[in-house]
Amino acid sequence: MILSTRNEHKVRELGEILPGSDLRALPEEVELPPETGSTFEQNALIKARAARAATGEVVIADDSGLEVDDLDGRPGVYSARYAGEGATDGENLEKVLADLRETSGAADGSGTARYVCSIALIDDSGEHLFRGTCEGRLIQEPRGDGGFGYDPAFLPDATGPDDGRTMAELSPEEKNSISHRGAAASLLARHLAN
Ligand code: IMP
Repeated sequence: MILSTRNEHKVRELGEILPGSDLRALPEEVELPPETGSTFEQNALIKARAARAATGEVVIADDSGLEVDDLDGRPGVYSARYAGEGATDGENLEKVLADLRETSGAADGSGTARYVCSIALIDDSGEHLFRGTCEGRLIQEPRGDGGFGYDPAFLPDATGPDDGRTMAELSPEEKNSISHRGAAASLLARHLAN
C-alpha cells in the first residue's frame, strides 16, 4: 500500500497505527498536486488519486488539520500553511494563538478545538473515505516536544480533566490511541480486515 504524502511524521504515525500493513512512501518522482479542496475529504482524494494514477497500486492519502471554534473552524484545510506558504509549525501555532487572543471574549474564550483527519483509500473496488476527530482545547503556553504541528498547545479531552498534558507531552502510543489519525486509521484497518 502506498501512502501519498511527503510528511515523514505521518508515515511514522500511520505505520505505527497500521502494523502489519506494507506501507510504502510515495516514490520521489511522483509529483503531488496542490491541495485545492475546501474540505479534508476533497484534499485526501486529490492526493490519493494522484498516487493511484502514477502507480496503479492500492493507495491511501490523508488530509488533516485543526479546527478552532472561536476562529470559525480556521485554520482547517490551511493548517499546514496558516502563517503563509512554507511557514514552520512554530509560526503556524503562534498565529493561531495570536488570532485566538484577539477573538477570546467574542465567544466563550475556552479555545475549544478539534483535530480532524480524513483518509482516502483507492483500491480496485473504488474510492473509500474514513474520518476521525480528536476533541480538545488550545492553551496559550505551549509545552512538550513530542508529536508535531499544533500539539504543544493542544489539550486533548480524551486524557481526562485532571491529566493536564498537551498532545506533545503524550507518548506516541498514547497519542495514537486518542488521535484523529488513529481514529480514522482504525476505521481503515477495520475496512481492510473485511
Ligand atoms: P496536511 O499535510 O495537509 O494534512 O496538513 C496537516 C497539518 O495539520 C499539519 O501540518 C499540522 O499543522 C496540522 N496537523 C495535522 N495533524 C496533526 C497532529 O496530529 N498534530 C499536530 N498538528 C497536526
